Amino acid sequence: MPDILVVGSLNADLVVRAPRFPEPGETISGEDLRIIPGGKGANQAVAAARQSASVGMVGRVGSDSFGPELINNLKQNNVDTSHVQVDAQSATGTAIIVVDANGQNSIVLSPGGNGKVSPADVNNVTFSDHKLLLLQLEIPIEAVLSATQRAKENGVRVLLNPAPAYSLPDELISLPDFILPNESELSLLTNQLVNDISSAEKAAQTLIERGAQNVIVTLGANGASIVSSTQVTHVRTYQVKVVDTTAAGDAFIGGFAFALLQNKSLEEAVRYGCACGALATTKFGAQPSLPTREEVERFMSLREGA
Ligand code: ADP
Repeated sequence: MPDILVVGSLNADLVVRAPRFPEPGETISGEDLRIIPGGKGANQAVAAARQSASVGMVGRVGSDSFGPELINNLKQNNVDTSHVQVDAQSATGTAIIVVDANGQNSIVLSPGGNGKVSPADVNNVTFSDHKLLLLQLEIPIEAVLSATQRAKENGVRVLLNPAPAYSLPDELISLPDFILPNESELSLLTNQLVNDISSAEKAAQTLIERGAQNVIVTLGANGASIVSSTQVTHVRTYQVKVVDTTAAGDAFIGGFAFALLQNKSLEEAVRYGCACGALATTKFGAQPSLPTREEVERFMSLREGA
């Protein structure tokens, strides 16, 4: 049985580059459509699997042609899909993305099957078979809460990436072993301005006061901070030549989860996550930029030897 279980979203990202965004009622021509597997759940599942963790996914796709493509993509990345259901009543989750000449995104998200993931889906899972549960917020909160409760009843560690962020009930703050927001997610979660390391650590403290166990804030080029009732520790990331920061957070979380399973200390696991996130920024795209274990180990040993 897989060590890591991801209960979350699978999306088809439909991406078109265009010279600019169309005005209402206007039609403009763009470049060829690219269809890219995405969704934070699937991205993080692949991120952890590329680190050689054994990973399974719980989720829903629709009965259109994207559904089997997304499932196949997970299989090709060694993610167990036996709990990914094909929902005959739904479309597959899609993100319709237009990228303009300045690299700005404009996105319409259609949740499709992701919006149908339910506590009943979670009840089909034997949580005691797994060691770590990975969650995001692209599926209904009832399913996230139910998975969290079931995992904790079975002694499974829970990592919650509160993305996209909104204010959460107390149980989803206190039950997870780790809450992993980026700066803007932390700001939305806490209603506080977060724009540097110290404001992030201060906002994270308010989650600790609400009962959170460990908050790991990712800070882009500033690395990450670990905040708990016993420590506030900043961890620096690696300097890299950035090409595209998409999926840096997903790479970080997949790497961090894998490193925790390797019994690394919290600080070491965050450092490992930083290496994964930094490497992901050196390549274009989401899943294509997620590094392998060999790439991360080589990168870290080169940098640490330098
Ligand atoms: P998200 O992609 O969710 O916005 P972040 O931007 O915080 O998340 O990135 C996640 C992690 O990836 C960071 O904690 C950091 O370790 C690494 N990272 C991101 N951007 C850079 C960068 N420009 N240089 C080096 N590391 C980076």
